[in-house]
Amino acid sequence: MRHRIAVVGSGPGGLSFARVLHRHGHPATVFERDPGPDARPPGGTLDLQEGLGQLALDKAGLLTEFQSLSRPEGQAMRILDTDGTVLRDWRPRPDDRARPEIDRRHLRDLLLDPLDVQWGRSVTQVVPGPTGGAQIHFADGRQESFDLAVGADGAWSRTRPAVSPVTPHYTGVTSFETFLDDVDTRHPDLARLIGDGSVAAYGANRSVVAQRNSGGHVKVYAKFRAPLDWHTNLDLADVEAVRASLLALFDGWAAPVLDLLRHGTAFIHRPLYTLPVSHTWTHVPGVTLLGDAAHLMPPLGAGANLAMLEGAELAESIATGDGDLDDAVRAFEERMWARAGRWAQITTAGLERLVSPDPAEALAQFDAVQPS
Ligand SMILES: Cc1cc2nc3c(=O)[nH]c(=O)nc-3n(C[C@H](O)[C@H](O)[C@H](O)COP(=O)(O)OP(=O)(O)OC[C@H]3O[C@@H](n4cnc5c(N)ncnc54)[C@H](O)[C@@H]3O)c2cc1C
Repeated sequence: MRHRIAVVGSGPGGLSFARVLHRHGHPATVFERDPGPDARPPGGTLDLQEGLGQLALDKAGLLTEFQSLSRPEGQAMRILDTDGTVLRDWRPRPDDRARPEIDRRHLRDLLLDPLDVQWGRSVTQVVPGPTGGAQIHFADGRQESFDLAVGADGAWSRTRPAVSPVTPHYTGVTSFETFLDDVDTRHPDLARLIGDGSVAAYGANRSVVAQRNSGGHVKVYAKFRAPLDWHTNLDLADVEAVRASLLALFDGWAAPVLDLLRHGTAFIHRPLYTLPVSHTWTHVPGVTLLGDAAHLMPPLGAGANLAMLEGAELAESIATGDGDLDDAVRAFEERMWARAGRWAQITTAGLERLVSPDPAEALAQFDAVQPS
């Protein structure tokens, strides 16, 4: 008998799950809160690693398409001192496919293609059934029942409370995101500084990172340690006030680094939250989680990769198992918890080093993870 399966969230994890299930001939209903695929800016570029995100795309039959859409040259990374001195200038070999970059929008469209997403379906609650299965409650008052509800609804998951009381906690590091458009024509000096990939400058307890997306679009991230309420006297909607506050925070840094903030168009405040390292739960028949909903960790290049591989593995576990849905989910959870626990340790330690009182720690972190 065919199982009724729902996935909450059309991020990289939810779409990878639905797409691999679709490849095996099993339908899944995708519920997404956003009213449409382009309802909000899709976010920055993602590097997809061999053995993680790329493996998920292989399981979805999409690796060749990914290779033509992705930017291997985007792996390039330049590290600066706060005075602008170039400390590292790493460029990938032309055939380096370890972690090419892809715009989130391109990845989403690649995964989305044949899937039927129900847009504008905001989930408020998922209630496990007394004998398995789950009922999904929506903001519009409707309810629908499924044999399995997969929560791929990100950091502030509405599915998570069905299996775990844990909520994300603040890491002590906050972040502002801004962007530059048409960088090659409008800011050629900055375009040269950023190169094909990223440029990062690390100071005591703070950093500025700029990363090239396709089409001359650049995302800029300013990160720093601060209490969660540090901005009580700052109107976050006032772009010029935020800019002035950030420029004061990075006062004395090299002019080109500050220019990344000076030319930024809008500022999005993103305090960094995480779930506890090695977050697990007692298995609940009828409901599971994957991706950030299960193991939100610092944004150090693993979250989307893990969400995608988990989505692909859960789909395969269901599609190729002996038909017992609960066994398939249990096996998946054990595997996810073990791998995500390792990555949560790595990324948590990484964040400590990248936003550290001693900027040499950030350089040491780069040298530790970057192939020479
Ligand atoms: C600045 C930054 C850079 C990053 N760079 C990388 C990188 O290079 N590589 C990498 O691997 N990871 C990266 N990450 C992490 C990555 O973005 C996340 O780990 C990843 O998006 C998680 O995927 P997900 O599918 O679990 O959740 P999400 O991408 O958060 O998707 C969740 C989806 O669920 C929907 N949703 C939420 N609530 C509801 C609801 N109640 N009802 C219905 N739908 C709902 C949301 O609208 C969304 O579409 C980065 C993160 C940040 C912040």
